Amino acid sequence: MLSINAFNTYRIPQQLKYFKPGNLQEALEILESVEGAKVIAGGTDLVVDLKYRRVEARALVDISRLSELRFIKLGDGYVEIGSAATIREIAESGVVKEKLPLLAEAAESLGSWQIRNLATVGGNLCTASPAADTAPPLLAYDAELELVSSRGVRIVPLGKFFTGPKKTVIERAEILRSVRVPLTPRTYGWCFIKLRRTSFDIAKVSVAVLLRVEGGFVADVRIALGSVAPTPVRARSAEKLAIGLKFEDAVRVASERVAGDISPIDDARSTAWYRLQTSKVLVKDAMWRAYERFLGAGAWR
Ligand SMILES: Cc1cc2nc3c(=O)[nH]c(=O)nc-3n(C[C@H](O)[C@H](O)[C@H](O)COP(=O)(O)OP(=O)(O)OC[C@H]3O[C@@H](n4cnc5c(N)ncnc54)[C@H](O)[C@@H]3O)c2cc1C
Repeated sequence: MLSINAFNTYRIPQQLKYFKPGNLQEALEILESVEGAKVIAGGTDLVVDLKYRRVEARALVDISRLSELRFIKLGDGYVEIGSAATIREIAESGVVKEKLPLLAEAAESLGSWQIRNLATVGGNLCTASPAADTAPPLLAYDAELELVSSRGVRIVPLGKFFTGPKKTVIERAEILRSVRVPLTPRTYGWCFIKLRRTSFDIAKVSVAVLLRVEGGFVADVRIALGSVAPTPVRARSAEKLAIGLKFEDAVRVASERVAGDISPIDDARSTAWYRLQTSKVLVKDAMWRAYERFLGAGAWR
């Protein structure tokens, strides 16, 4: 047993076995058979959690280099992103920039260069932080997740993946294989806005908007927020009320109604009151920016 004080964050206070499987099947087998084994991808959340003793593990299964998990693919009617694709790969991908610009915009804002080089989309979602930057855009795109284990495969809509702060439906011996985003033939404007204390900090509040307007009326709007509820959330009632209204009225209504879709709290980064007020303003700003981009032939197709 190492004798260190509880605040020494230079050391992981546990003996860990390290596995570097050659393929996904091997990773699943190790995860199934080794007690206390945990998946590690970029390690930018997990290593911090291990050092602070927020998480315990006896073994780490490194999936960061598995080519089966590290890809970005344009399919017929969808974009599929492997869970080990890094945030930098996503932010710089031509496919993501063209087909999923809302996700590209959020990825560019995540952490610093160093973090984006290591951090993966799978880690960002599986950590299940209410502030995870890739979650609001992927919720707005109605993304689905493919979870695999030695028992088989299951598809879970992202909207049903998060169950609470740091909690998801993923089981111990499951791995998130990929994130699949359906494409639409229609054109959407988009905007991701993130409010934070310093340039590398995680969000106090984040808002992602996808918007389509026809003849001055809102034909579709998807609004998702981060850091304002136990999980990243879609503002379903704000969306419902805004659809069908004249754009300017839709902005006013959505910005007022969003309060009913969120449940912010006080924490180290902000207060519930501030989060509530800024959510209203950010929804307004993000809808206007999405509208400008829509008029400038924005894209989600
Ligand atoms: C300085 C700093 C700044 C940061 N800034 C931001 C920010 O601005 N925005 C933001 O959203 N986050 C931020 N983060 C948090 C972190 O970088 C991201 O959440 C990152 O995407 C996590 O990915 P990872 O690959 O490093 O995950 P890891 O740390 O490797 O794993 C995180 C968790 O997910 C599990 N996991 C990982 N991949 C899989 C998989 N494929 N299947 C099943 N389980 C899996 C692991 O077991 C672990 O529980 C920051 C972190 C640091 C240290």
